[in-house]
Amino acid sequence: MRLDSKMQVGILGAGPAGLTAAVALQRYAPPGSVDITVLDRYNSSADYPGVEYGIQARAMRALHRVRADDAARRRGNPVDRIEFYNRNGHRQLALRVDPRWSIGVLRREFLTDLASLSAAPLLRGHDVNAIVAADGGRRVDVTFADGQPARRFDLLVAADGVQSVARRQFFPADAVTHDRGFSAIYLLVDETKAPDGNMPPGFSSIANGGTIRFMRGSFATAVWFPAGNGRLTLALGFDHATRAHIWVSQGLPPDAAWQNLSGVQRRSLARRIAADVPGPGGLVVQALDLVEDWVSPDVYLWSMRDSDPLAQPYTAGLPVVLLGDAAHAFLPTIGMGASLAIEDAEIFSRILARHLAGGGTLDELHTKVLQRFGDHRRGVWLDLMTRARDAVTNWRHETVEQGFVLSPFVPTRVGSALVRGYEQVRGRTLTPTDHAA
Ligand SMILES: Cc1cc2nc3c(=O)[nH]c(=O)nc-3n(C[C@H](O)[C@H](O)[C@H](O)COP(=O)(O)OP(=O)(O)OC[C@H]3O[C@@H](n4cnc5c(N)ncnc54)[C@H](O)[C@@H]3O)c2cc1C
Repeated sequence: MRLDSKMQVGILGAGPAGLTAAVALQRYAPPGSVDITVLDRYNSSADYPGVEYGIQARAMRALHRVRADDAARRRGNPVDRIEFYNRNGHRQLALRVDPRWSIGVLRREFLTDLASLSAAPLLRGHDVNAIVAADGGRRVDVTFADGQPARRFDLLVAADGVQSVARRQFFPADAVTHDRGFSAIYLLVDETKAPDGNMPPGFSSIANGGTIRFMRGSFATAVWFPAGNGRLTLALGFDHATRAHIWVSQGLPPDAAWQNLSGVQRRSLARRIAADVPGPGGLVVQALDLVEDWVSPDVYLWSMRDSDPLAQPYTAGLPVVLLGDAAHAFLPTIGMGASLAIEDAEIFSRILARHLAGGGTLDELHTKVLQRFGDHRRGVWLDLMTRARDAVTNWRHETVEQGFVLSPFVPTRVGSALVRGYEQVRGRTLTPTDHAA
Protein backbone atom coordinates (compact mmCIF):
# COMPACT_ATOMS: atom_id res chain seq x y z
CA MET A 1 0.00 0.00 0.00
CA ARG A 2 1.43 3.37 -1.01
CA LEU A 3 1.16 6.34 1.25
CA ASP A 4 -1.10 8.88 -0.43
CA SER A 5 -0.60 11.37 2.39
CA LYS A 6 2.00 12.00 5.07
CA MET A 7 2.98 9.04 7.20
CA GLN A 8 1.50 9.54 10.66
CA VAL A 9 4.28 8.69 13.10
CA GLY A 10 3.52 8.48 16.81
CA ILE A 11 6.48 8.60 19.18
CA LEU A 12 5.67 7.22 22.60
CA GLY A 13 7.96 8.81 25.20
CA ALA A 14 9.79 12.13 25.40
CA GLY A 15 13.02 10.77 26.86
CA PRO A 16 16.37 10.77 25.04
CA ALA A 17 15.19 8.15 22.51
CA GLY A 18 11.82 9.71 21.73
CA LEU A 19 13.04 13.28 21.41
CA THR A 20 16.06 12.29 19.33
CA ALA A 21 13.75 10.32 17.03
CA ALA A 22 11.53 13.38 16.62
CA VAL A 23 14.45 15.68 15.83
CA ALA A 24 16.17 13.18 13.52
CA LEU A 25 13.04 12.33 11.54
CA GLN A 26 12.39 16.00 10.93
CA ARG A 27 15.98 16.42 9.69
CA TYR A 28 16.14 13.30 7.55
CA ALA A 29 12.66 12.63 6.15
CA PRO A 30 11.81 14.13 2.76
CA PRO A 31 9.85 17.38 3.22
CA GLY A 32 6.15 16.75 3.70
CA SER A 33 6.54 12.98 4.10
CA VAL A 34 5.85 12.60 7.84
CA ASP A 35 3.60 14.01 10.50
CA ILE A 36 5.08 13.39 13.93
CA THR A 37 3.35 13.47 17.31
CA VAL A 38 5.22 12.83 20.57
CA LEU A 39 3.21 11.56 23.55
CA ASP A 40 4.39 11.46 27.15
CA ARG A 41 2.60 10.66 30.35
CA TYR A 42 4.49 13.15 32.48
CA ASN A 43 3.73 16.85 32.54
CA SER A 44 7.40 17.80 32.60
CA SER A 45 10.75 16.12 32.03
CA ALA A 46 11.58 17.01 35.66
CA ASP A 47 8.91 14.51 36.83
CA TYR A 48 10.98 11.56 35.69
CA PRO A 49 13.65 10.02 37.93
CA GLY A 50 17.20 10.47 36.75
CA VAL A 51 19.70 13.17 37.44
CA GLU A 52 22.70 13.07 35.19
CA TYR A 53 23.46 11.44 31.88
CA GLY A 54 26.78 10.75 30.31
CA ILE A 55 26.44 11.41 26.60
CA GLN A 56 29.22 9.35 25.11
CA ALA A 57 30.98 9.69 21.78
CA ARG A 58 28.70 7.35 19.86
CA ALA A 59 25.66 9.39 20.94
CA MET A 60 27.37 12.75 20.42
CA ARG A 61 28.20 11.70 16.88
CA ALA A 62 24.58 10.68 16.30
CA LEU A 63 23.44 14.05 17.66
CA HIS A 64 26.02 15.77 15.47
CA ARG A 65 24.60 14.09 12.37
CA VAL A 66 21.22 15.66 13.10
CA ARG A 67 22.79 18.96 14.18
CA ALA A 68 21.67 18.48 17.78
CA ASP A 69 25.04 18.04 19.50
CA ASP A 70 24.94 21.66 20.66
CA ALA A 71 21.85 20.74 22.69
CA ALA A 72 24.13 18.53 24.79
CA ARG A 73 26.98 21.05 24.88
CA ARG A 74 24.83 24.07 25.68
CA ARG A 75 24.48 23.37 29.40
CA GLY A 76 26.48 20.15 29.55
CA ASN A 77 29.94 19.64 30.96
CA PRO A 78 32.79 18.16 28.89
CA VAL A 79 34.36 15.00 30.34
CA ASP A 80 38.09 14.61 29.74
CA ARG A 81 39.18 11.95 32.21
CA ILE A 82 37.95 8.92 34.12
CA GLU A 83 39.87 7.88 37.20
CA PHE A 84 39.63 4.77 39.34
CA TYR A 85 40.73 4.72 42.99
CA ASN A 86 41.07 1.68 45.20
CA ARG A 87 39.97 1.31 48.80
CA ASN A 88 43.25 2.68 50.09
CA GLY A 89 42.57 5.91 48.25
CA HIS A 90 45.28 5.22 45.66
CA ARG A 91 44.66 5.92 42.03
CA GLN A 92 44.72 2.74 40.00
CA LEU A 93 44.07 3.99 36.53
CA ALA A 94 43.24 7.11 34.60
CA LEU A 95 41.74 7.16 31.15
CA ARG A 96 41.73 10.13 28.87
CA VAL A 97 38.49 10.97 27.09
CA ASP A 98 37.97 13.39 24.23
CA PRO A 99 35.98 16.26 25.79
CA ARG A 100 34.56 17.32 22.44
CA TRP A 101 32.65 14.07 22.25
CA SER A 102 31.88 13.17 25.84
CA ILE A 103 29.54 15.38 27.82
CA GLY A 104 27.81 15.10 31.21
CA VAL A 105 24.34 16.63 31.18
CA LEU A 106 21.52 17.05 33.63
CA ARG A 107 18.62 15.09 32.22
CA ARG A 108 16.02 17.83 32.53
CA GLU A 109 18.26 20.47 30.93
CA PHE A 110 19.31 18.23 28.08
CA LEU A 111 15.76 17.11 27.31
CA THR A 112 14.48 20.69 27.40
CA ASP A 113 17.18 21.78 24.96
CA LEU A 114 16.59 18.77 22.72
CA ALA A 115 12.82 19.32 22.70
CA SER A 116 13.38 22.92 21.60
CA LEU A 117 14.86 21.60 18.33
CA SER A 118 11.70 19.73 17.42
CA ALA A 119 8.69 21.31 15.74
CA ALA A 120 6.57 18.20 16.32
CA PRO A 121 3.73 18.54 18.84
CA LEU A 122 4.70 17.13 22.24
CA LEU A 123 1.54 16.10 24.07
CA ARG A 124 2.25 15.78 27.77
CA GLY A 125 -0.11 14.22 30.30
CA HIS A 126 -0.90 11.44 27.78
CA ASP A 127 -0.57 8.15 29.63
CA VAL A 128 -0.84 5.36 27.07
CA ASN A 129 -2.30 2.14 28.42
CA ALA A 130 -2.65 -0.02 25.28
CA ILE A 131 -1.73 -0.33 21.62
CA VAL A 132 -4.49 -1.76 19.47
CA ALA A 133 -4.53 -3.00 15.85
CA ALA A 134 -6.46 -0.73 13.50
CA ASP A 135 -7.27 -0.78 9.78
CA GLY A 136 -6.72 -4.54 9.51
CA GLY A 137 -3.39 -4.35 11.35
CA ARG A 138 -1.86 -1.84 8.93
CA ARG A 139 -2.09 0.91 11.52
CA VAL A 140 -2.32 1.13 15.30
CA ASP A 141 -4.44 3.03 17.76
CA VAL A 142 -3.01 4.06 21.10
CA THR A 143 -5.46 4.37 23.96
CA PHE A 144 -5.07 6.40 27.14
CA ALA A 145 -5.49 5.56 30.80
CA ASP A 146 -7.79 8.53 31.43
CA GLY A 147 -10.15 7.56 28.60
CA GLN A 148 -9.42 10.45 26.24
CA PRO A 149 -9.93 9.59 22.55
CA ALA A 150 -7.49 7.14 20.97
CA ARG A 151 -4.96 8.32 18.39
CA ARG A 152 -4.17 6.45 15.17
CA PHE A 153 -0.73 6.11 13.62
CA ASP A 154 0.83 4.47 10.55
CA LEU A 155 3.89 3.77 12.67
CA LEU A 156 4.39 3.80 16.42
CA VAL A 157 7.90 4.34 17.78
CA ALA A 158 7.77 3.01 21.33
CA ALA A 159 10.49 4.89 23.23
CA ASP A 160 8.69 4.51 26.53
CA GLY A 161 11.50 3.33 28.76
CA VAL A 162 12.12 0.42 31.08
CA GLN A 163 8.44 -0.11 31.89
CA SER A 164 7.40 0.11 28.26
CA VAL A 165 3.74 -0.56 27.51
CA ALA A 166 4.75 -1.94 24.10
CA ARG A 167 7.22 -4.36 25.62
CA ARG A 168 4.76 -5.58 28.23
CA GLN A 169 2.02 -5.99 25.67
CA PHE A 170 3.92 -7.55 22.76
CA PHE A 171 6.82 -9.27 24.52
CA PRO A 172 5.36 -10.42 27.84
CA ALA A 173 8.00 -13.12 28.27
CA ASP A 174 10.74 -10.47 27.89
CA ALA A 175 9.05 -7.86 30.04
CA VAL A 176 10.85 -8.98 33.19
CA THR A 177 13.74 -6.93 34.49
CA HIS A 178 16.66 -8.61 36.23
CA ASP A 179 17.75 -7.59 39.69
CA ARG A 180 21.54 -7.16 39.54
CA GLY A 181 22.04 -7.23 43.28
CA PHE A 182 22.93 -3.66 44.04
CA SER A 183 21.55 -0.16 44.38
CA ALA A 184 22.91 3.33 44.28
CA ILE A 185 21.85 6.50 45.99
CA TYR A 186 22.06 9.22 43.35
CA LEU A 187 22.07 12.83 44.40
CA LEU A 188 22.71 16.17 42.87
CA VAL A 189 24.88 18.57 44.84
CA ASP A 190 24.51 22.16 43.71
CA GLU A 191 26.79 24.73 45.28
CA THR A 192 24.42 27.57 44.44
CA LYS A 193 21.77 25.91 46.61
CA ALA A 194 24.03 24.89 49.48
CA PRO A 195 22.38 25.82 52.80
CA ASP A 196 25.09 28.04 54.29
CA GLY A 197 27.22 28.70 51.22
CA ASN A 198 30.37 27.23 52.87
CA MET A 199 31.97 25.03 50.23
CA PRO A 200 34.35 22.25 51.16
CA PRO A 201 37.76 23.14 49.71
CA GLY A 202 38.10 21.83 46.18
CA PHE A 203 34.39 21.29 45.56
CA SER A 204 34.03 23.92 42.85
CA SER A 205 37.01 22.78 40.87
CA ILE A 206 35.74 19.19 40.93
CA ALA A 207 32.17 20.15 40.02
CA ASN A 208 33.41 22.39 37.19
CA GLY A 209 36.18 20.05 36.07
CA GLY A 210 36.09 17.19 33.60
CA THR A 211 37.01 14.15 35.72
CA ILE A 212 34.63 11.32 36.49
CA ARG A 213 36.00 9.55 39.50
CA PHE A 214 35.29 6.01 40.76
CA MET A 215 36.22 5.46 44.40
CA ARG A 216 36.00 2.16 46.20
CA GLY A 217 35.47 1.72 49.88
CA SER A 218 35.37 -1.54 51.78
CA PHE A 219 31.70 -2.14 51.04
CA ALA A 220 30.59 0.81 48.92
CA THR A 221 31.61 2.54 45.72
CA ALA A 222 31.22 6.24 45.15
CA VAL A 223 31.28 7.83 41.73
CA TRP A 224 31.18 11.50 41.04
CA PHE A 225 30.17 13.04 37.77
CA PRO A 226 30.84 16.76 37.38
CA ALA A 227 27.86 18.54 35.84
CA GLY A 228 29.41 22.01 35.54
CA ASN A 229 28.10 25.31 36.90
CA GLY A 230 28.95 24.25 40.44
CA ARG A 231 26.97 21.00 40.27
CA LEU A 232 28.13 17.49 40.98
CA THR A 233 26.20 14.24 40.75
CA LEU A 234 27.26 11.72 43.33
CA ALA A 235 26.35 8.03 43.18
CA LEU A 236 26.84 5.78 46.21
CA GLY A 237 26.64 2.12 45.21
CA PHE A 238 26.28 -0.91 47.51
CA ASP A 239 24.94 -4.44 47.29
CA HIS A 240 21.69 -5.73 48.73
CA ALA A 241 23.24 -7.42 51.77
CA THR A 242 25.06 -4.21 52.64
CA ARG A 243 21.87 -2.29 52.18
CA ALA A 244 19.98 -4.48 54.64
CA HIS A 245 22.85 -4.26 57.13
CA ILE A 246 23.08 -0.48 56.95
CA TRP A 247 19.35 0.07 57.07
CA VAL A 248 19.17 -2.01 60.26
CA SER A 249 22.19 -0.21 61.75
CA GLN A 250 20.22 3.03 61.32
CA GLY A 251 17.21 1.57 63.14
CA LEU A 252 15.18 0.83 60.01
CA PRO A 253 13.62 -2.41 58.77
CA PRO A 254 16.06 -4.00 56.27
CA ASP A 255 13.60 -3.59 53.42
CA ALA A 256 12.29 -0.09 54.22
CA ALA A 257 11.45 1.59 50.92
CA TRP A 258 13.34 4.76 50.05
CA GLN A 259 10.18 6.71 49.24
CA ASN A 260 8.92 6.14 52.80
CA LEU A 261 12.06 7.51 54.47
CA SER A 262 12.29 11.00 55.90
CA GLY A 263 14.94 13.44 54.77
CA VAL A 264 16.81 12.94 58.04
CA GLN A 265 16.84 9.16 57.59
CA ARG A 266 18.01 9.44 53.99
CA ARG A 267 20.78 11.78 54.96
CA SER A 268 22.09 9.56 57.73
CA LEU A 269 22.04 6.47 55.47
CA ALA A 270 23.94 8.34 52.77
CA ARG A 271 26.47 9.63 55.32
CA ARG A 272 27.04 6.12 56.67
CA ILE A 273 27.73 4.81 53.15
CA ALA A 274 29.80 7.81 52.03
CA ALA A 275 32.01 7.50 55.13
CA ASP A 276 33.22 4.15 53.81
CA VAL A 277 34.80 5.70 50.73
CA PRO A 278 38.19 7.39 51.07
CA GLY A 279 37.52 10.45 48.92
CA PRO A 280 40.02 13.31 48.93
CA GLY A 281 39.88 15.28 52.19
CA GLY A 282 36.59 13.68 53.20
CA LEU A 283 34.92 15.44 50.29
CA VAL A 284 32.45 12.66 49.56
CA VAL A 285 30.94 13.03 53.03
CA GLN A 286 31.23 16.80 53.10
CA ALA A 287 29.44 17.10 49.77
CA LEU A 288 26.36 15.60 51.43
CA ASP A 289 26.11 18.67 53.67
CA LEU A 290 25.45 20.70 50.54
CA VAL A 291 22.24 18.85 49.75
CA GLU A 292 19.44 21.23 50.57
CA ASP A 293 16.42 18.95 50.29
CA TRP A 294 16.74 15.22 50.91
CA VAL A 295 13.22 14.43 49.70
CA SER A 296 13.58 16.18 46.35
CA PRO A 297 13.51 14.11 43.13
CA ASP A 298 17.21 14.94 42.78
CA VAL A 299 17.97 12.47 45.59
CA TYR A 300 16.85 8.93 44.88
CA LEU A 301 17.70 5.31 45.30
CA TRP A 302 18.12 3.48 41.99
CA SER A 303 17.70 -0.24 42.48
CA MET A 304 19.73 -1.72 39.68
CA ARG A 305 17.80 -3.80 37.18
CA ASP A 306 18.31 -4.42 33.51
CA SER A 307 16.42 -6.13 30.71
CA ASP A 308 17.58 -8.44 27.93
CA PRO A 309 17.91 -6.75 24.54
CA LEU A 310 15.00 -7.79 22.33
CA ALA A 311 16.07 -10.09 19.51
CA GLN A 312 13.53 -8.38 17.24
CA PRO A 313 12.64 -4.91 18.51
CA TYR A 314 9.39 -4.72 16.55
CA THR A 315 6.09 -6.51 16.47
CA ALA A 316 5.49 -9.16 13.84
CA GLY A 317 2.07 -8.01 12.74
CA LEU A 318 1.78 -4.33 13.62
CA PRO A 319 3.84 -1.26 12.69
CA VAL A 320 5.44 -0.84 16.12
CA VAL A 321 9.18 -0.53 16.80
CA LEU A 322 10.92 -0.29 20.19
CA LEU A 323 13.94 1.90 20.90
CA GLY A 324 16.12 2.80 23.87
CA ASP A 325 15.32 1.36 27.30
CA ALA A 326 12.10 -0.15 25.93
CA ALA A 327 14.27 -2.45 23.79
CA HIS A 328 17.14 -2.87 26.31
CA ALA A 329 17.38 -1.28 29.76
CA PHE A 330 21.01 -0.96 30.84
CA LEU A 331 22.68 -0.74 34.21
CA PRO A 332 24.56 2.54 34.63
CA THR A 333 27.86 0.68 35.05
CA ILE A 334 29.20 1.79 31.67
CA GLY A 335 27.02 4.88 31.36
CA MET A 336 25.34 3.68 28.16
CA GLY A 337 21.58 4.02 28.80
CA ALA A 338 20.95 7.47 27.38
CA SER A 339 23.72 7.18 24.79
CA LEU A 340 22.34 4.02 23.22
CA ALA A 341 18.81 5.42 23.32
CA ILE A 342 20.01 8.44 21.33
CA GLU A 343 21.99 6.35 18.87
CA ASP A 344 19.09 3.92 18.32
CA ALA A 345 16.77 6.80 17.54
CA GLU A 346 19.09 8.47 15.07
CA ILE A 347 19.81 5.24 13.23
CA PHE A 348 16.17 4.21 13.10
CA SER A 349 15.16 7.63 11.76
CA ARG A 350 17.82 7.43 9.06
CA ILE A 351 16.63 4.01 7.90
CA LEU A 352 13.00 5.15 7.85
CA ALA A 353 13.83 8.37 6.00
CA ARG A 354 15.71 6.43 3.32
CA HIS A 355 12.71 4.20 2.85
CA LEU A 356 10.42 7.20 2.44
CA ALA A 357 12.84 8.97 0.12
CA GLY A 358 12.90 5.89 -2.11
CA GLY A 359 9.11 5.93 -2.39
CA GLY A 360 8.79 3.00 0.05
CA THR A 361 5.36 1.65 0.91
CA LEU A 362 3.71 0.81 4.22
CA ASP A 363 3.63 -2.88 3.22
CA GLU A 364 7.40 -2.95 3.09
CA LEU A 365 7.82 -1.22 6.43
CA HIS A 366 8.61 -4.45 8.25
CA THR A 367 11.20 -5.82 5.86
CA LYS A 368 12.80 -2.57 4.73
CA VAL A 369 12.75 -0.60 7.95
CA LEU A 370 11.93 -2.50 11.14
CA GLN A 371 13.90 -5.66 10.38
CA ARG A 372 16.80 -3.69 8.99
CA PHE A 373 16.93 -1.63 12.16
CA GLY A 374 16.81 -4.74 14.36
CA ASP A 375 19.55 -6.46 12.33
CA HIS A 376 21.69 -3.36 12.52
CA ARG A 377 21.42 -2.94 16.31
CA ARG A 378 21.30 -6.44 17.77
CA GLY A 379 25.06 -7.04 17.87
CA VAL A 380 25.79 -3.65 19.43
CA TRP A 381 23.18 -4.14 22.13
CA LEU A 382 24.37 -7.64 23.04
CA ASP A 383 28.02 -6.64 23.17
CA LEU A 384 27.41 -3.60 25.37
CA MET A 385 24.96 -5.45 27.59
CA THR A 386 27.65 -8.04 28.35
CA ARG A 387 30.10 -5.28 29.24
CA ALA A 388 27.57 -3.47 31.42
CA ARG A 389 26.84 -6.68 33.32
CA ASP A 390 30.54 -7.48 33.72
CA ALA A 391 31.16 -3.97 35.03
CA VAL A 392 28.91 -4.60 38.03
CA THR A 393 32.14 -5.66 39.75
CA ASN A 394 33.26 -2.02 39.69
CA TRP A 395 30.28 -1.06 41.81
CA ARG A 396 30.07 -3.94 44.21
CA HIS A 397 32.56 -5.18 46.70
CA GLU A 398 34.33 -7.85 44.65
CA THR A 399 38.08 -7.63 44.37
CA VAL A 400 39.95 -6.30 41.40
CA GLU A 401 41.09 -9.85 40.65
CA GLN A 402 37.50 -10.85 40.02
CA GLY A 403 37.28 -8.40 37.18
CA PHE A 404 37.89 -4.74 36.75
CA VAL A 405 35.97 -3.35 33.88
CA LEU A 406 36.93 -0.21 32.09
CA SER A 407 34.42 -0.68 29.37
CA PRO A 408 33.14 0.64 27.11
CA PHE A 409 36.67 1.76 26.33
CA VAL A 410 38.70 -1.33 27.16
CA PRO A 411 37.72 -5.02 27.02
CA THR A 412 37.17 -6.56 30.45
CA ARG A 413 40.09 -8.99 30.30
CA VAL A 414 42.48 -6.21 29.32
CA GLY A 415 41.21 -3.94 32.09
CA SER A 416 41.59 -6.68 34.69
CA ALA A 417 45.08 -7.60 33.49
CA LEU A 418 46.17 -3.96 33.53
CA VAL A 419 45.00 -3.40 37.06
CA ARG A 420 46.45 -6.68 38.31
CA GLY A 421 49.81 -5.83 36.75
CA TYR A 422 49.75 -2.37 38.22
CA GLU A 423 48.95 -3.66 41.68
CA GLN A 424 51.81 -6.20 41.48
CA VAL A 425 54.29 -3.57 40.37
CA ARG A 426 53.24 -1.35 43.25
CA GLY A 427 53.67 -4.35 45.61
CA ARG A 428 50.14 -4.12 46.88
CA THR A 429 47.77 -7.05 46.88
CA LEU A 430 44.12 -6.34 47.15
CA THR A 431 42.37 -8.69 49.50
CA PRO A 432 38.74 -9.68 49.27
CA THR A 433 36.84 -6.81 50.78
CA ASP A 434 35.02 -6.97 54.07
CA HIS A 435 31.37 -6.70 54.30
CA ALA A 436 29.89 -3.65 55.98
CA ALA A 437 31.05 -4.13 59.50
C1 LIG B 1 14.97 5.21 38.62
C2 LIG B 1 15.90 5.45 37.47
C3 LIG B 1 16.92 6.36 37.61
C4 LIG B 1 17.82 6.59 36.58
N1 LIG B 1 18.83 7.48 36.78
C5 LIG B 1 19.75 7.66 35.81
C6 LIG B 1 20.83 8.55 35.99
O1 LIG B 1 20.92 9.26 36.99
N2 LIG B 1 21.77 8.62 35.00
C7 LIG B 1 21.67 7.88 33.85
O2 LIG B 1 22.54 7.99 32.95
N3 LIG B 1 20.64 7.07 33.63
C8 LIG B 1 19.68 6.94 34.58
N4 LIG B 1 18.66 6.06 34.36
C9 LIG B 1 18.58 5.34 33.07
C10 LIG B 1 18.15 6.30 32.00
O3 LIG B 1 17.04 7.04 32.50
C11 LIG B 1 17.74 5.57 30.71
O4 LIG B 1 18.77 4.70 30.28
C12 LIG B 1 17.46 6.54 29.57
O5 LIG B 1 16.66 7.60 30.03
C13 LIG B 1 16.78 5.79 28.44
O6 LIG B 1 16.15 6.69 27.55
P1 LIG B 1 14.78 6.31 26.85
O7 LIG B 1 14.41 7.50 26.05
O8 LIG B 1 14.88 4.99 26.19
O9 LIG B 1 13.72 6.08 28.02
P2 LIG B 1 13.25 7.06 29.18
O10 LIG B 1 14.24 8.12 29.44
O11 LIG B 1 12.84 6.17 30.28
O12 LIG B 1 11.99 7.80 28.58
C14 LIG B 1 10.77 7.15 28.45
C15 LIG B 1 9.69 8.21 28.38
O13 LIG B 1 8.47 7.54 28.10
C16 LIG B 1 7.47 8.05 28.92
N5 LIG B 1 6.49 6.99 29.14
C17 LIG B 1 6.70 5.81 29.74
N6 LIG B 1 5.58 5.08 29.76
C18 LIG B 1 4.64 5.84 29.17
C19 LIG B 1 3.25 5.65 28.92
N7 LIG B 1 2.62 4.53 29.28
N8 LIG B 1 2.56 6.64 28.30
C20 LIG B 1 3.17 7.79 27.94
N9 LIG B 1 4.47 8.02 28.18
C21 LIG B 1 5.21 7.06 28.77
C22 LIG B 1 8.18 8.46 30.20
O14 LIG B 1 7.46 9.47 30.87
C23 LIG B 1 9.52 8.96 29.68
O15 LIG B 1 9.53 10.36 29.45
C24 LIG B 1 17.72 5.86 35.37
C25 LIG B 1 16.68 4.95 35.20
C26 LIG B 1 15.77 4.75 36.24
C27 LIG B 1 14.66 3.76 36.05
